[in-house]
Amino acid sequence: MVDEQQQAERHKARQQRLKEKVDARIAAAQEERGLLIVITGDGKGKSTSGFGTVCRAVGHGLKPAVAQFIKGTWACGERTLLEGAGVPFAVMATGFTWETQDRAQDTAAAQAVWQVAKGWLTDPTLDLVLLDELTYMLAYDYLDLDEVLEALVNRPPRQHVVVTGRGCHRALLELADTVSEVKKVKHAFDAGIKAQQGVDW
Ligand code: ATP
Ligand code: MG
Repeated sequence: MVDEQQQAERHKARQQRLKEKVDARIAAAQEERGLLIVITGDGKGKSTSGFGTVCRAVGHGLKPAVAQFIKGTWACGERTLLEGAGVPFAVMATGFTWETQDRAQDTAAAQAVWQVAKGWLTDPTLDLVLLDELTYMLAYDYLDLDEVLEALVNRPPRQHVVVTGRGCHRALLELADTVSEVKKVKHAFDAGIKAQQGVDW
């Protein structure tokens, strides 16, 4: 009984110290500005994280926009939902999927989406821009790295940007305010389970 009481008191004291530290850090974090967030790594959860942030923004009445740099072979659920909520999308026209091997056509498809996204990155009425799977466009040289970095640096100061995709370029990681790496511990696909509607797209 005494032990339990002592334990409870120690726990309370520890929590109190922790709370003081957290409160001090919250009080010290005064700056408010648009963030560049990168979600990279080989595990599942990058795009869903990006779209989760878009949903969060919509829920607060903010204005996001979404550029998707890889055209899947199926309609993704997020797009259906968010377009219905008035979120503008720029998606790859016919052309780019993992299967295409036409470099000129893929470059043109990437550039077309980028031109729209670049416009969004100058629009102060947009609170958040999701650049889904942008990292591959840089890895394949479909987009010019310096041009992308410049557009990100010069965007409206309060605009947030989320970039997703594996193998993010070092320069973009350095520029980012927040970087998360989603690490694959397991993926169902490796056990022969196919991608499923509503969970994988
Ligand atoms: P999600 O859209 O589910 O958040 P993601 O954006 O992290 O996934 P991508 O690399 O864009 O991952 O791949 C998209 C598709 O591939 C999704 O259907 C996802 O379930 C699947 N996937 C993601 N990671 C892996 C993996 N390590 N092995 C096999 N399939 C994967
Ligand atoms: Mg993805």
